[in-house]
Amino acid sequence: MKVLISGGAGFIGSHLVDRFLNDGAEVIVVDNLITGEEGNIAHNFKKSGFEFIKEDVCEPLKIKGGIDLILHLASPASPFDYLKYPIETMRTASLGTYNMLEMAREKGARFLLASTSEVYGDPEVHPQSEEYWGNVNPVGPRSVYDEGKRFAEALTISYFRKYQLQTIIIRIFNTYGPRMRPGDGRVIPTFINQALKNEPISIFGTGEQTRSFCYIDDMVEGIIRASQVDYHEPINLGNPKEYTILQLAEIVKQLCNSTSSYRYLPLPENDPKKRRPDISRARGLLKWEPKIGLEQGLSNVIDWFKKKM
Ligand code: NAD
Repeated sequence: MKVLISGGAGFIGSHLVDRFLNDGAEVIVVDNLITGEEGNIAHNFKKSGFEFIKEDVCEPLKIKGGIDLILHLASPASPFDYLKYPIETMRTASLGTYNMLEMAREKGARFLLASTSEVYGDPEVHPQSEEYWGNVNPVGPRSVYDEGKRFAEALTISYFRKYQLQTIIIRIFNTYGPRMRPGDGRVIPTFINQALKNEPISIFGTGEQTRSFCYIDDMVEGIIRASQVDYHEPINLGNPKEYTILQLAEIVKQLCNSTSSYRYLPLPENDPKKRRPDISRARGLLKWEPKIGLEQGLSNVIDWFKKKM
């Protein structure tokens, strides 16, 4: 089996690369390294069956030979990154997704789109099931990402409807693990970084807003299972256990033995107040649910950050 992973040098993509190579597949990574790091995949460079193409998915790409599965993960993903690269984010969601879908059509490959819980925006329905259409401000600061992914979903399902391409859409909720960049602005790496340095932990708003966090190994398993089903409507993947941001900060502080205080900052515009996936569909279709608890997962990330510091 040959798999192409766009965005394979990023956080989630690079873990998928490792898993597919371990399972005996051949893997091609296409990544322009805008937010990824070569170091995430460098340990595979000498392995047979691995190829890295440093390229922007917005450019048309020719690849020789067959491909069985395309996992399209390329996209800046943290708010910090997509606000820094708004046009690149929209180009990748539109042109990049189009190019990857065309490649899937040419090769007769299955196609999986990594979409996001951000398509639900600041949700009025809680928890969020796939039937909910979302509450997104089309001209808000986060819209480059939210609307980009909504467009990418619409394009993907159009390829299924028009060409019967075997498409899969997953909506990933907050995922964390080793290889996240300490400075990527997402809450878990930020808190760990601050706690390990005993610096004040930045809490946006009152810290009462909630999130749910899925450990990378659970996410990889969910993505692998999703890539094998014949199902074309979106599938939520995430951990349904919900924490307030203050609870998360407390757990991180304890696990880091930190003396950090809290520094309260204004809530960013359109920041969702609640975020929790309804994963009934994934449970039923994929026989999947997360197994790794927050404390265990956080301990792994903290160990990894300590080695990097
Ligand atoms: P990441 O930034 O670590 O990885 C994204 C990768 O895509 C990077 O390696 C980057 O260089 C690459 N990339 C971006 N634009 C590209 C382009 N035009 N051409 C080629 N490569 C490009 O982010 P991640 O957390 O690993 O996210 C991976 C995917 O999962 C993204 O599509 C993201 O939207 C989705 N997602 C992630 C989360 C999460 O919690 N991590 C949540 C929801 C959705």
